[in-house]
Amino acid sequence: MTVIHKRLWMKSMSFCWLLTTAIGYAQNIDSLFIKKISNDILTNGKAYDNLKVLCKTVGGRLSGSAQMYKAEAWGITTLKAAGADTTYLQACKVPHWVRGGQDKLTAIYTDAKGKPTKKTVDALSLGNAIGTGNTFVQAPVLLINNFDELEKKKAEVKGKIVFYNYPFNPTYIQPFTAYAEAGVYRRTGPSRAAKYGAVAVIVRSMAGGTDNQPHTGATLYDTTVPKIPCAAIGLQDADWIGQWLASGKKLAFNYQSAAHFLPDTIAHNVIGEIKGSTFPKEIITIGGHLDSWDPAEGANDDGAGCVHAIEVLRTLQAIGYQPKRTIRIVLFANEENGLRGATQYAETGKKTDETFYFGLESDAGSFTPRGFSCMANTAQLEKMQVWIPLLKPYGVYHITPGNAGADVEPLYEKFKTPVAELVPDAQRYFDLHHTRADVFENVHKRELAMGAVNMTALIYLIDTYGL
Ligand SMILES: [Zn+2]
Repeated sequence: MTVIHKRLWMKSMSFCWLLTTAIGYAQNIDSLFIKKISNDILTNGKAYDNLKVLCKTVGGRLSGSAQMYKAEAWGITTLKAAGADTTYLQACKVPHWVRGGQDKLTAIYTDAKGKPTKKTVDALSLGNAIGTGNTFVQAPVLLINNFDELEKKKAEVKGKIVFYNYPFNPTYIQPFTAYAEAGVYRRTGPSRAAKYGAVAVIVRSMAGGTDNQPHTGATLYDTTVPKIPCAAIGLQDADWIGQWLASGKKLAFNYQSAAHFLPDTIAHNVIGEIKGSTFPKEIITIGGHLDSWDPAEGANDDGAGCVHAIEVLRTLQAIGYQPKRTIRIVLFANEENGLRGATQYAETGKKTDETFYFGLESDAGSFTPRGFSCMANTAQLEKMQVWIPLLKPYGVYHITPGNAGADVEPLYEKFKTPVAELVPDAQRYFDLHHTRADVFENVHKRELAMGAVNMTALIYLIDTYGL
C-alpha cells in the first residue's frame, strides 16, 4: 500500500467511523424519544378510556344511523381533548342500509326417526342485502362447497336456496389470507347464485373459530341479475348443515329478513390536526374508520383504529413534540359498506395545495402489534425498514409490502403517497370481526396501547427524517 493510498484508506476509515457514530448517536436519541412515547402511553394513555366511551355510549354506528351522528360528535370532542388545534367535519354522501329487525332462519327437515323437525338457526343478513319484505322465502337448500361446484351444478340451482360452505383455510398462517379467499363467497356469491335462479343465499361465516357466531359484512350485488336475500350462519351450524346435506339428506330453509335501504344520507369524516411547523402543507394522515356494523359495538372493527389514531396526536402533544409536518387524524366515514369517506378524502387532495405526504391506518384489530404493511416505492420501504431495530423492543418485527388499509389506499392509488397499516397479531381477530362479540370487553388495554406506541413511533420517525 502506498503512503497516499494509506492516507486515503485512513481518511475513509475515519469517515466510516464518524458516520457509524453519527447514526449510532441519532439512533440513541431516537430510541430514547420512542421510550418517552411508550412511557407516556403506558402511564397516561387515553385510548382505552376513549374506546369505552365510544362503545358504551354510542355502540354500533352503521352509516346513516342515529349512532353514526353521535359517533361524529364523540370524535370531535375526543380530538379536541387530545389536543388538536383544529377540528372539522368533511361531508360525504353515504348509503343508509338498515337490518330492520331480527333475521329469522329456520331449518326444516325430517329427523333420523322420521319426525318432521324445525330448528332455529342463528343468522345475520349480509350488509347491503335486500330482505324478504313482509313475507319469507322458503325453498330446498343446495349445498355448494365452492364456485367450481356451482358451475357444475348450475342446472340444479333454480328455485333453491344456495348454501355456500366454503371454510377458512386453516393452513394459512395469516387469517387475513383465509379471509381474502373466503370473502368472495360473501361479496359475489349471492349474485353468482342468482344468475342461475337461486331464490336466496346462506353463507358459512367468514371465520375460523370454534363458536357459532354469525358474521355479517357487505355483499356486492351484480346489477345485471336479480337481487336475492342473503345471510351468514355460524360455523357450528354450517358444519352440521353441510354434513347433513353432503350425506344426501334433504333440508329446506325458511328465511325472513326486514333488511332494506333508506335514501342516501350525509355522513362526515371527522378530522383533527396539529399544524406542522416547517412543512404545514405536507399532510401526514393517520386514521381508522368510525362506522361499524350494527350487531355490536365495533370495538375491534374499528373503534380500536379510531382511538389508536387519536392517541398518536394526544401523545405527540403531551410530550411536547412539535411536528414539522401537519399531523391530521381522520376518522373515516362508511368504510364497511361503501368506502365513501375514504373516496371523498382522497378527492379533496385535488382541490387544495396540500400534498398527502404519508398515510397510516389501523383497521386490523386491537391485538398485540407485529409489524406494518406498506404500499410505497422501494426507496421509501427501505428507509422505513432501517427503523425496525428501533421498533423491535415494542413488538414491531417487520415492515413489509402489502395492503395498507382500505381508507388510506386511495391516497397511494391517486397520488402515490406512501401508506401503511398497523399489523397486529390476527389469530383471534376473526373470532370477533363483524359479530355480536365485537364489544369493548374483548379489547385488552395493554395490547391496544402497544399499537398506539408503535404507530406514534413510526409517525415520529417519518416526520423527523422524511421518506
Ligand atoms: Zn374495519
